[in-house]
Amino acid sequence: MQGKRAVVLGGAGFVGSHLCERLLDEGAAVVAVDNFLTGAEENLRTLRGRPGFEFVRQDIVEGLQIEGPVDYVFNMASPASPIDYAQLPLETLRVGSLGTENALRLAEARGAVFLQASTSEVYGDPLVHPQHEGYYGNVNPIGPRAVYDEAKRYAEALTSAYARVRGVQTRIVRIFNTYGPRMRLKDGRVVPAFVGQALRGEDFTVFGDGTQTRSFCYVKDLVDGLVRLVRSDVTEPVNIGNPREMTILQFAEAVRAAAGGGGKIIHQPLPQNDPKQRQPDITRARTLLGWEPKVPLEEGLRETISYFRTIAGGRAAP
Ligand code: NAD
Ligand code: UDP
Repeated sequence: MQGKRAVVLGGAGFVGSHLCERLLDEGAAVVAVDNFLTGAEENLRTLRGRPGFEFVRQDIVEGLQIEGPVDYVFNMASPASPIDYAQLPLETLRVGSLGTENALRLAEARGAVFLQASTSEVYGDPLVHPQHEGYYGNVNPIGPRAVYDEAKRYAEALTSAYARVRGVQTRIVRIFNTYGPRMRLKDGRVVPAFVGQALRGEDFTVFGDGTQTRSFCYVKDLVDGLVRLVRSDVTEPVNIGNPREMTILQFAEAVRAAAGGGGKIIHQPLPQNDPKQRQPDITRARTLLGWEPKVPLEEGLRETISYFRTIAGGRAAP
């Protein structure tokens, strides 16, 4: 990517900041854009000062003013944790709709390749298992998760329309549960929740009976998939995630083993419309991008735990 310039919307977020780092490593110049809705200045610490890196504070719903040439636009901007989008329902709908359109307009105006971060949530509480990209999903359009799921489904529709009628070169990635350093300790997602509890010696809060499943992908693997996708000519949606599926009870035990701590399992009510099972079918990513995850859960958890130990001390939200 030497000589290329990438705009990363949501660049101060968990995934966005890792993506900025990887793009700089590839030799690209990077403009990160964020309004710190759910991101943090701290996530930019290793980026600031690197040659080729710029940060612009903007709300992408209000419009995007970026000077100069742009080769790639990565739209990572959106609250992503169920707690965040429950607290920010209108912001989530607006960034997925108006924000995505502003991002597409920027890509159109500069002739840039546009990559939309979508999600496994477009499959809702899936009736097909594992989930392949041809499955249309099972989403409750008025439930508490709908502000996120439907915003992402709309963003996919909008992205596809800009490709069809405006000739924008588009890519759509459906990201499955991803974890790693720079997640917020208190963002409510299961990885920081359990890691924080293990480090503080508290009980693990399992929602429901804990038999629901998820499949966890380490952030470095995800970012590698994003870079491969944007470099490819694949316009149809591509799942990026780790197919190793486990129950939430098994995941609690994996965190206990990796952190060497934590109390007993306590059960709390299952949130409404919580998907019962989730596992990506990554045949398309394997075949078209030559991508598959490389980092085992045990190794990814070690990195994540060590981050939370150093940065947060396992005590407070960073
Ligand atoms: P995050 O909350 O850490 O990052 C999102 C970033 O977007 C934040 O820095 C936030 O401040 C910024 N943002 C939100 N609204 C904005 C606006 N209007 N203008 C400018 N910036 C804005 O979340 P994340 O986990 O890094 O997720 C990044 C992307 O990946 C999201 O689009 C999310 O939907 C998608 N995704 C993530 C996962 C995952 O497991 N992490 C899974 C599926 C999809
Ligand atoms: N979960 C849990 N305890 C927590 C947080 C989450 O049991 O403290 C469960 C949640 O109900 C879901 C799974 O873990 O079944 C993954 O939740 P997360 O919010 O990380 O992501 P989701 O895949 O639901 O978007």
